[in-house]
Amino acid sequence: MESTNKKIAIVTGANRGIGLETCRQLSQKGIITILTSRDENFGKKAIASLSKEGGDLLYQQLDVSDSGSVAGLKDFVSEKFKRCDILVNNAGVFLDRGVSIFDLPQKILQETLEINFFGALKMCREFLPMMQEIGYGRIVNVSSGMGSIASMGGGSAAYKLSKLAMNGMTRIMADEIKDDNIKINTMAPGWVRSDMGGANAPRSLAQGADTIIWLATLPDDGLSGGFFEDRVPAAW
Ligand code: NAP
Repeated sequence: MESTNKKIAIVTGANRGIGLETCRQLSQKGIITILTSRDENFGKKAIASLSKEGGDLLYQQLDVSDSGSVAGLKDFVSEKFKRCDILVNNAGVFLDRGVSIFDLPQKILQETLEINFFGALKMCREFLPMMQEIGYGRIVNVSSGMGSIASMGGGSAAYKLSKLAMNGMTRIMADEIKDDNIKINTMAPGWVRSDMGGANAPRSLAQGADTIIWLATLPDDGLSGGFFEDRVPAAW
């Protein structure tokens, strides 16, 4: 086991986009950041390019839809550090852009929920005990404005329902762990220029990651169980 006073962060789906930018910013804050990706080649290329900028980074393969892969990461982290301070559930897919709920193939709905919702749920379940052990934890669930009931319209039901479920899960978990020094929040990055957001999105990766970093580094009197966009509460 490596002994360190530094915080340990895990970021899922971090070989590109908002996840990669989150790793950049966390590692530059002196946090040991475990960059994970489902494809090892993509992940190793990503970490090689980030490492040139400095920062404390490690790579581990992780497919959030694979329970064995999630358990393998937990074993790695508990053997190497015996602690996990920060978990960013960022991995996500958007497979039903604009598709009507009446035409949505069941397979697409299931795959989307498996990654976007069950993936985050599994990660929380695996890593929460380590946080409870050290009496500290910050969990950030990367959701979307499309998961908000307040503005929900037709189309893209798989994606929207997966993020709605993620938001609900955040509230439920926050209440169940309210006596621990573990803050769990959900957030919307806005429309961001990534492979998912496309080149026409108005926001940069840094803007998309800003609220993630803020929530990942909340002080002990910080909020828990909230849904945020641009560091302010968003409508559920
Ligand atoms: P992105 O560029 O498409 O990146 C998504 C990441 O998730 C990729 O690294 C992808 O890996 C990974 N991923 C997918 N399935 C996975 C799995 N089973 N296990 C592990 N990793 C997996 O998208 P992004 O824009 O950065 O999105 C990041 C998060 O922000 C997502 O949760 C998304 O829903 C949310 N979001 C984005 C926007 C936006 O405008 N961009 C808006 C609202 C919310 P591969 O490279 O292997 O596919």
